[in-house]
Amino acid sequence: MSRFLSSAMKALAPYIPGEQPSDRKYIKLNTNESPFPPSEKAVKAAEEAAKSLQLYPALDGGRLRSEIAEYLGVGYDEVAVTNGSDEVLNLCFKAFCSTQSPAAFADITYGFYPVFANYNCVPYEIIPLKDDFTVDPCDYIGINKNIFIANPNAPTGIFLPVSDIEKIIKSNPDNVVVVDEAYIDFGGESCVPLIKKYPNLVVTQTFSKSRSMAGARLGFGVACPELINDLYRLIYSTNPYNLSRLNMAVGIAAMEDSEYTRRNCAEVVSTREKFTEDLRSLGFEVLPSLANFVFAKKEGVSGRELYERLRSEGILVRRFDSPRINDWLRITIGARDDMKTLVEKLRLITENLL
Ligand code: PMP
Repeated sequence: MSRFLSSAMKALAPYIPGEQPSDRKYIKLNTNESPFPPSEKAVKAAEEAAKSLQLYPALDGGRLRSEIAEYLGVGYDEVAVTNGSDEVLNLCFKAFCSTQSPAAFADITYGFYPVFANYNCVPYEIIPLKDDFTVDPCDYIGINKNIFIANPNAPTGIFLPVSDIEKIIKSNPDNVVVVDEAYIDFGGESCVPLIKKYPNLVVTQTFSKSRSMAGARLGFGVACPELINDLYRLIYSTNPYNLSRLNMAVGIAAMEDSEYTRRNCAEVVSTREKFTEDLRSLGFEVLPSLANFVFAKKEGVSGRELYERLRSEGILVRRFDSPRINDWLRITIGARDDMKTLVEKLRLITENLL
């Protein structure tokens, strides 16, 4: 840290992403990436777009924005396209929260929320999940704070019914509710239709998971035109060209190949169900997940040890050093064969055969 860093920024505890090691080849199940490559149409589109990189990209999300709007059945002015959904989430903290209008989110949820809050000097309330790791909607009724809910939640994978979210939105009319739907395409029901009814709702989604494009950095927010305008006001105040020609081109191609996305999601869901069954038959507790990962633990087995043993066997999973969940592992649903290998390793490790 240099002596020039401002004291507010010195106090930041940055988000720690899942590791991306290059020391050896791993079965990588630690960052919820897709096991499938992006659509071939997207690969071709990137090559074509690369030929025009001497030019700045389109402003305001260009055609990608209208493709997303059409796909979701909302208006062009109800979508903001961003550099990953992390960008739109950060913008929501910046745009809608302040000392007078704090944020609120669960104790066990996406680890970036407190980082964004601190980055934007926003005070926040942490609301513990219930013992079974579900959200109690009553905890959010009329709390007069800007609420961030990941649905399905991460790292638990648990889905909160849209009717519960609607009650939360309705009871906090003077605050914004942000529903982070990074994992919605793996079985959950989206809150997007509710944006027509509630002027205080923002729904965010990403191309990183279901569309196999974590490397492209594309996400979007969906909300009423006034909120979308607010987000673009901030985009124009920081980085109007927030999307490159390359990521817009691959995004458009992915939207046009939504059948490919749908098929891959169905495959992930069916692998998830089989993997969950296999883990349970090994004696693991597995939370019910509607995401492309599961959260699991085995009674009497240390999460840290399990994580380290798997790592030394060439399998990376995610573990969080946080008191309520430090014996749990978040395991991305990968290719079927990789999940079979993992189940076999877990069997050997937990039966002390390895
Ligand atoms: N929300 C949640 C709950 C996530 O797990 C992630 C991925 N780390 C994101 C948002 C951000 O994803 P991206 O910026 O790749 O769209």
